[in-house]
Amino acid sequence: MRFDIFTIFPSMFDGFLTESILKRAREQNLLEIDIHDIRDWTTDRHRSVDDYPYGGGAGMVMMAPPVVEAVEATMPVRSDGDNSEVILLSAAGERFTQELAIELATRARIGLVCGHYEGIDQRVVELLGAREVSIGDYVLTGGELPAAVIVDAVG
Ligand code: SAM
Repeated sequence: MRFDIFTIFPSMFDGFLTESILKRAREQNLLEIDIHDIRDWTTDRHRSVDDYPYGGGAGMVMMAPPVVEAVEATMPVRSDGDNSEVILLSAAGERFTQELAIELATRARIGLVCGHYEGIDQRVVELLGAREVSIGDYVLTGGELPAAVIVDAVG
């Protein structure tokens, strides 16, 4: 099984992936986890990832182009046939339960997109055909901890 995690804070996963059961699973090639820095797909010299919401609204959101390009470049083939899925971590998404963990464990490859600011430009959901998932009824500052929870439960 393979996870691709898309984040603007790659180093947040360092300790989590290099200890305990996940460390052993990776060493035994039972689990592959690749971390992708969304800023590598930015085009300006400041490596900007935030923008005003498309269509208006308060605060800033993670802009669509670097997120979409990061996922499309990393997981180019996504269809029922390749048994992969892209998940956007979102406090407003469907609830992550043991039932969903069991369903996701049947996937060959899962992309996890970690949001920040006021969330991710909603167009990303449509452009990537992504599924929005929440780990609980509370709002965290970013999607990295939720992504780690899903990897731990599903992997
Ligand atoms: N304004 C957004 C809302 O009310 O849903 C909150 C955005 S939150 C500050 C920033 C990011 O953290 C989100 O885009 C999401 O990726 C992640 N996040 C926060 N809480 C989460 C939760 N309970 N489950 C999954 N992801 C969460």
